[in-house]
Amino acid sequence: MAGEGCIFCRIARGEAPAQIIWEDEQTMAFLDIAPVARGHTLVIPRRHYRDLMSVPDEELAAVMATAKRVARALMEGLGATGVNVLHASGVAAGQSVFHFHLHLIPRREGDGLDPWPEEGYQGREREREQEDDPEEVCKRIRVALALQGPKRYLN
Ligand SMILES: [Zn+2]
Repeated sequence: MAGEGCIFCRIARGEAPAQIIWEDEQTMAFLDIAPVARGHTLVIPRRHYRDLMSVPDEELAAVMATAKRVARALMEGLGATGVNVLHASGVAAGQSVFHFHLHLIPRREGDGLDPWPEEGYQGREREREQEDDPEEVCKRIRVALALQGPKRYLN
């Protein structure tokens, strides 16, 4: 069975505890157990998908609709004045639970969180060594998109 042993599947099935904020047929939202800010929330599809590239469009839209609803509640309920939506697909990106999820991080002026360091990636030597021409970068991404065709799921 997909997602066997997956902690988020266990939460979705009610087999593992979580501070659940929202649930509907397709999605759930619950507090992160290691919050970086008060109200740090995860939004997941109930069904198990490994990463962004695996989630069917319709379920992804449902996850985003829940993210929007919960983000508004973080602003209104917790007095946040901003929200970051963060996501990691793949180990290199920092993904640690391999059930697709979005992080909603309530933000407040002067809270000290810094998801985008000012130096940018060009300040890091390893990235600089690689080809960095924006036109070439765009071309490679467009070719990969064209090869996918108009609609293609990887699951
Ligand atoms: Zn899962």
